[in-house]
Amino acid sequence: MEELKYQIDLLSAMNQKLIRDEKMLRLICETSSSAFLYYNYEEKRIQTIANWSHFFPFTITDMKELTKLYDFVEEKDVIPLREVLFIEKQGMKSQTIEVKLKENRICIEVEVNIIYDEMSNPTDKIIRFKDVTKFNVQNDELTYMAYYDLLTGLYNRNYFVRLLGEFVRRAQEENEIVAVMFVDLDDFRRINDGMGIIIGDEVVQAVGQFLFEMMNDNIHIAHFNSDVYCIAVYSPCGARSVETIYRTLKERFKKPFVLTNGQEIYITASVGVAEYPEAATTTLDLINCAEIVMFKAKSLGKDKIQYFDGAILDEFLKNVSIENKLKEAVFAQNFTMYFQPQFRTADKALRGVEALIRWKDDNGKMISPAVFIPIAEKNGAIIPIGTWVIEESLKAYAQWKKKFHYPMIISLNISAIQYKQPDFIDKVLHILKKYEVSPYEIELEITESILIDDFEEITEKLAVLRDIGIKISLDDFGTGYSSLSYLKGLPIDTLKIDKSFIDTVITDENTKIITESIIYMVKKLGFETIAEGVETEEQFRYLNEISCDIIQGFYLGKPMPSEDIEELLAREC
Ligand code: C2E
Ligand code: CA
Ligand code: CA
Repeated sequence: MEELKYQIDLLSAMNQKLIRDEKMLRLICETSSSAFLYYNYEEKRIQTIANWSHFFPFTITDMKELTKLYDFVEEKDVIPLREVLFIEKQGMKSQTIEVKLKENRICIEVEVNIIYDEMSNPTDKIIRFKDVTKFNVQNDELTYMAYYDLLTGLYNRNYFVRLLGEFVRRAQEENEIVAVMFVDLDDFRRINDGMGIIIGDEVVQAVGQFLFEMMNDNIHIAHFNSDVYCIAVYSPCGARSVETIYRTLKERFKKPFVLTNGQEIYITASVGVAEYPEAATTTLDLINCAEIVMFKAKSLGKDKIQYFDGAILDEFLKNVSIENKLKEAVFAQNFTMYFQPQFRTADKALRGVEALIRWKDDNGKMISPAVFIPIAEKNGAIIPIGTWVIEESLKAYAQWKKKFHYPMIISLNISAIQYKQPDFIDKVLHILKKYEVSPYEIELEITESILIDDFEEITEKLAVLRDIGIKISLDDFGTGYSSLSYLKGLPIDTLKIDKSFIDTVITDENTKIITESIIYMVKKLGFETIAEGVETEEQFRYLNEISCDIIQGFYLGKPMPSEDIEELLAREC
């Protein structure tokens, strides 16, 4: 009796353990999100476990029914699936494949495991079905990101370089040409800064979509970054000649791009073109050359196409060399200041001087500020150079003042980048104080193009400077926007008529009329006028006749070192 009770307890305990184990197994299977099929060869028992219904709308009770699965997978997957479901026929232990379901395009990983006894006969078969769609989508996205630019759908830079490389290899074999067009939207910063980057992105996208339509086997297009696109054309001729592509682009740009908020935006682009093998023979050199000539197109006034030529590259390389020397010059302070006198037209009395920087490089060669200032503006060197100019000029001015007590004005050329520095006004005030120069004794020059590019930001600063008593002068008038009507609201005191007007003011009737009306109008607005680049007596006399207030030019005085200005002052006093 005791023995029987013991046996019953033992059985019951084993049973409980079995139930627990089975529950545990089921829970593991169910939470795994996979489906399982179990088959026991000896008992010919088949069982579907866990998430079977997630994958298949039928159950399986007999091994033969496994073939039902073939109807559910895509055509191409049927044979591989058949092979993997019955791997025991080849004595294999396990194998995994991926199939796609026809109806919902779910991707399934099918893993088959066979368990064999000591005699190598299969005893159990376990098939696991796992949904891997999500992983595949992620993989697809990664693949997409490796080749394409997400914003525009065009190729990305890296992949484009590879494709261009293939074009170049093919062109080498087939003796063909490959053109690279470097496309940069004009004044994009104004859209991005003025309207926000969301609008900026929309514009980039819209242009990208337009370019996308042009792509084919012989035309690859990439979005490099921001507002920069690059087009590679294999054998550019006929319908896919560079001219045709450019014309298509220009035609599109004649119409506005309509944004989602209904706003219309007009765009232009500057395009640089370099061709294999003429410009360069490697992909990166081709892209670089195209970019360099694109900059040339920008400097020629934007909205233009520029083709590669050796002279542009030489100029670029020269600028790079100047840029490098410039960095050293800033460090070594290899600059000096020259001053060009300005005279009142009526009595030829000295009105003041314009401070003009001079740079002698290591070989003693004089490099013109017209060449190096734009480079210094690009690489940021203009900030230390500009501060040095103000400091040196005011130092010289303070000495003249001490020696001669002659009332005059010193004009300083200030670049846009300096104006935009948050501490610019403080810096000027600090140097004025240091050399005991009054704000009324200095004049800051600004060019028209700067004003137009950053109108609000800069006019606000100019107004503050004028409140302090500093004069503001509009330089190079006539070379830029040149509309008299916008002058009205400007916070300026003086207007400098550009040398290009003065050059032909005697010989050209139209220039005469324009110059006369500028002076007439400007005087009405209350500004003083300065004529720049006056080289002859004839020009001087004529400018006097039409009441131009001040004359600056080689006729009355070239730019000169501080000592020569002292001589001049000695004569004046
Ligand atoms: P700018 O401000 O228009 O200066 C006048 C330029 O015309 C000077 O050239 C001057 O030497 C030249 N010039 C004056 N009168 C005559 C003339 O009768 N005939 C001829 N052929 N030329 C005349 P420079 O000194 O070579 O300066 C060129 C430009 O470089 C300046 O043009 C100005 O934009 C810039 N620059 C010069 N110094 C500075 C500076 O300290 N800071 C900044 N930001 N720019 C400067
Ligand atoms: Ca000037
Ligand atoms: Ca000027």
